[in-house]
Amino acid sequence: MAEGSARPAVVVVGGGVAGLVAARVLMQRGAQVTVLERSDGFGGNLGGRELGGFVLDSGAESFSTRSDTVPALAAELGLEDLIVTPDAPGAWVQLPARDLPAGAHPLPASGVLGIPADPTDPGTAALIGRTGALRAALDKVLPPGALATRPGVSLGELVRARMGEEVLNRLVAPVAGGVFSADPDTLDVDSVAPGLRPAMARLGSLGAAAGALRQAAPAGSAVAGLRGGMVRLRDALVASLREGGADLRTSETVRALRRAPGGGWTVSTEHSTLQRSVSASAVVLAADGPGAVDLLAGVLPQAAVERPDPVPGVALVTLIVDQPELDASPRGTGVLVARGVAGVQAKALTHSTAKWKWLREQAGPGSHILRVSYGRAGDNPADSGASTGDEDLFRQALADASALLGVRLEAADVLAWDVVRWAGALPHAAVGHRDRVARLRAAVGPLEALEVTGGWLAGTGLVSVIDDATARARALAAELGLPEGPQGDPL
Ligand SMILES: Cc1cc2nc3c(=O)[nH]c(=O)nc-3n(C[C@H](O)[C@H](O)[C@H](O)COP(=O)(O)OP(=O)(O)OC[C@H]3O[C@@H](n4cnc5c(N)ncnc54)[C@H](O)[C@@H]3O)c2cc1C
Repeated sequence: MAEGSARPAVVVVGGGVAGLVAARVLMQRGAQVTVLERSDGFGGNLGGRELGGFVLDSGAESFSTRSDTVPALAAELGLEDLIVTPDAPGAWVQLPARDLPAGAHPLPASGVLGIPADPTDPGTAALIGRTGALRAALDKVLPPGALATRPGVSLGELVRARMGEEVLNRLVAPVAGGVFSADPDTLDVDSVAPGLRPAMARLGSLGAAAGALRQAAPAGSAVAGLRGGMVRLRDALVASLREGGADLRTSETVRALRRAPGGGWTVSTEHSTLQRSVSASAVVLAADGPGAVDLLAGVLPQAAVERPDPVPGVALVTLIVDQPELDASPRGTGVLVARGVAGVQAKALTHSTAKWKWLREQAGPGSHILRVSYGRAGDNPADSGASTGDEDLFRQALADASALLGVRLEAADVLAWDVVRWAGALPHAAVGHRDRVARLRAAVGPLEALEVTGGWLAGTGLVSVIDDATARARALAAELGLPEGPQGDPL
């Protein structure tokens, strides 16, 4: 951008974390930024609400420590002192009764996504049985072979081939269900566990690779959070954009993108019944997958075939309960549920007051916050709970929490509860995902002054989303000729 020339106007479509991060990078590089968000608030899956006197995360409640992405952003926003790691006890897994050992067991903490660093370790062997442990130990002697490099390998295929069915069904599947609402056989391993296969090729076994990835995380914890909730990251991003003069609009749905005759874009929006057009030098499309593809298809018809497959809805029931027996954290920080556990519909339960010290201190002794999650791909929608009405789901959550925690919880123990529903919020990084993303990026590449970003492309999780949004925004800033700051970028 030549000195003295007007600041280019950039419209960001979608005010989730991808849109907010991209908007901030572009604002810092000197663009005049407008963020258009369809819903009545910013943050998308990174959100919060008040329940029973607590401000609680409604979606993301932690971030992966596999990279410095979130701590670096938190530091830029003045939040570095709020970073906290979860309490030590770790999560448990609830196994079905059909085979032994059944019931609830602590998950081995040494690996990633349930893949144990050492399947012969007594804690792990207790979960997968002696035969399972013997089969899993083959991982140490099998050569890495083509599985380490061949394209299109799923998480399930890799774990089954290296460590066998017991590790897959009893450890990895419950974790994948809890984190991605998906079956490991459908998940692209390189998208959900970046670096795992290269580490396996280097170190010779899947267990060694899982252990190395886990150890690479600072302080040994795979995740961290923010005191006050991850929603504080959303609030700080919004505050920083406001301070920098960005134009932030909610309840404004983008309906169409059109090339403007003289270059740049015309963005058609709808606010309530009011329709209008916004002119922009450039656009960042940071809507969720289906929304982004529909908008893209207007200018790039071949994009329509890349529309992501529908994913199951997720429902989170939060229970604030008065039950001193939970002070002992009977199931650590929570429970991941394997398929087939009789009578339990939940896929996971987070014991939030056991996981986060700041929340426990706020609640005080005897009071507990439980987040019970429903909706996993492959479940019959009628059984998954995600389509059940609020009152029935509340009763189911109470029963599931009692069964999973081994502590009887009655409606009279509940001080407050609510249900948060997310439709299509956890797009699957399915096998072949990287190829689809590459195809889409190649098709979008020639369109001037347009970048596409978001979890549906980058992969679920704040780290992937923030990294991608930052990279796309920097690429757009360079294309617009916006100068880098004295330290390179951002200003
Ligand atoms: C229940 C849940 C728990 C999670 N937990 C974690 C966790 O603990 N740790 C972690 O790292 N990740 C977690 N995630 C994943 C993480 O939150 C997401 O990967 C990330 O927030 C996605 O951000 P995004 O901006 O790409 O998409 P979104 O958050 O979906 O944002 C897209 C935004 O675009 C808007 N939009 C769509 N269409 C239009 C349009 N036409 N016009 C204007 N606006 C539009 C939407 O309203 C939305 O606000 C969780 C997700 C969920 C649902």
